[in-house]
Amino acid sequence: MEKLIDERREIYLEQLFTLLRQKSISAQNIGILETATMLRGMMEDIGINARLIETDGHPVVYGEVIRHPGAFTLLIYGHYDVQPAELADGWNSPPFEPTIRDGRIYCRGAGDNKGQLMAQLMAVKTYLDVRHSLPINVKFMFEGEEESGSPNLAVFVEQHKELLACDLVYTSDGPLHETGLPMVVLGVRGMLYVELSCQTSKWDNHSGNKGNIVPNPAMRLIQLLASMRDGEDGRVLIDGFYDNVQEPTEAERAHLRQLPYDNAQAGRQAGYEELDMDAETYYRRLMYEPTLNICGFSSGYSGEGSKTIIPAKATVKMDMRLVAGQDPDDIYQKLCAHVARHAPGVEVRHLGDMKPSRTPVHHPLVQQVIAAVESAYRQPPVVAPALGGSLPDYVWTQILGVPSVLVPYANSDEANHSPNENIGVENFVNGIRCACHVIDRIGR
Ligand SMILES: [Zn+2]
Repeated sequence: MEKLIDERREIYLEQLFTLLRQKSISAQNIGILETATMLRGMMEDIGINARLIETDGHPVVYGEVIRHPGAFTLLIYGHYDVQPAELADGWNSPPFEPTIRDGRIYCRGAGDNKGQLMAQLMAVKTYLDVRHSLPINVKFMFEGEEESGSPNLAVFVEQHKELLACDLVYTSDGPLHETGLPMVVLGVRGMLYVELSCQTSKWDNHSGNKGNIVPNPAMRLIQLLASMRDGEDGRVLIDGFYDNVQEPTEAERAHLRQLPYDNAQAGRQAGYEELDMDAETYYRRLMYEPTLNICGFSSGYSGEGSKTIIPAKATVKMDMRLVAGQDPDDIYQKLCAHVARHAPGVEVRHLGDMKPSRTPVHHPLVQQVIAAVESAYRQPPVVAPALGGSLPDYVWTQILGVPSVLVPYANSDEANHSPNENIGVENFVNGIRCACHVIDRIGR
């Protein structure tokens, strides 16, 4: 298979270029149906049974190669939509004309996600052409709204559980590890986003004429916030906040200790050079511990000079990153109860949430994927138990109830969402090789 991939480099690149030239900007509803239709045609040409499925937004392109109904089934997820792009944003070549410079393909969608999506398809094509059949069932679900926050993904998965039924979900999006090593990611933190507001008077009052008479809403919010977090060790004091948090096992902690970590570099990347942590602490805090964070606080006058007022209103925006076991609805209830107890009258607004997700590192299927990635890249991947950030990975692990692995193919400087988005030609080719290895390994 490796030989065929090498021989067909130009042909596979040309397929990718055709898809890249077709705009598919979900935010502006440009070229979506054309792209979905083109993709379906490309999948059919490979021998994948493909169709478009309507959603309340943009259609899903679904495909399958079924060996036999009882066989192991791999579900490959990706997205065919892209972020907006204009030449004037700072592109060195037209954003929808794929251009190779210095071994990289520059185009909107090159890394995020058409290049990675096409690598999966070309892997299946290669496999079918060499071996005439796949050793497992493979299903594909390509979404057209990922860049708009996947508003219909959870509903779609809920409504098509049978169609999407599988043993493992496999996603390639995002970059390799910054060291250039391949990477396997097994989960994400969830999130709850809220706004708290406190209004004490109908308008801003004179701080002398009404001082000690009218209460200050900023003070109230600050006291409420202080009641939520221990000043010494940072533990969140909302009742029951940690109830369902699963502590890392000894094996998981040992795994964290051997992840690549450079304290000085991590500090520089955060613009916080005082950072002083060992690898285990750093990754445990990022992957296994929830946060309680103030994103913004506004009240009263913060312009030039002085203005002596008691503000009428104060508002704080907060996010909480949640780890496996925590449920955003439950945490929201607990937060509301805390606010009602400590600062009745403060209003809580729910601005958004996402469930966390985690597939255990020691799951046997995960071990197979890790072995396949290692054989494709000829070096062991960095295995991250979770990302610090949030993605809708829970639709696989909680709605479908199956393990989910993220194996990114793009270079770490892919500049996704930015001008001059790119993917290395070798990253694309290695992605094809990697998907072949994964299918082959699981097939055994
Ligand atoms: Zn993106």
